Amino acid sequence: MNKSMTKIIEFGEKFSIVWQNTGVSQVGEVRNYTLDGNGYRPIPILLDDVQMNKIKMRFLVSTLNDNGPKIVVSADFMKIPVRLREAGIWHEVGHIVYEHLLSDEFLDQSQLKASRQMAIKKGIVLPMELEADCFAILQSGKESIIELLTYLMNTRSPDKKLELNELGKRELEIRITAIRTRKCTRRRTQTRVKII
Ligand SMILES: [Zn+2]
Repeated sequence: MNKSMTKIIEFGEKFSIVWQNTGVSQVGEVRNYTLDGNGYRPIPILLDDVQMNKIKMRFLVSTLNDNGPKIVVSADFMKIPVRLREAGIWHEVGHIVYEHLLSDEFLDQSQLKASRQMAIKKGIVLPMELEADCFAILQSGKESIIELLTYLMNTRSPDKKLELNELGKRELEIRITAIRTRKCTRRRTQTRVKII
């Protein structure tokens, strides 16, 4: 095939979540469909409690390596009702689509935590969190995201240091207020992140 025949595949803004029960660590995938609707690129959703414990995350996180982005979840996350679970997945897809994973802040998880806490003390939430929430709202509506954040708030571990617990609670409250009052529009994205 000569060069002029090479087809450029373009991916649109249509996504779906597919849950899988394969008996291995992959419990699902997010599919991003091509503009012509004939194909898609998957973002795997992997169940990995070891990694989640290591980075001290309770439910889910998105990561990026040379093979592209993936979403890692915990066994506790898989016990949440599917509607709320999907709201959480859409939030992570927002981080991936808007390329937050490439920002310096995101690359260093402890730095990310520090800037999150600093923002909350000022009464705000990092713009990337609000943007990811907006992506989730456009996918699944305000109510399921609010339900998820309320669920997170009500199931917070009581054994954390009191100050951290208060900050975490405050962040969720600020996000819920923002979701209630904000109008979300989709931001155009480039495809610097290769979703394989
Ligand atoms: Zn987030």
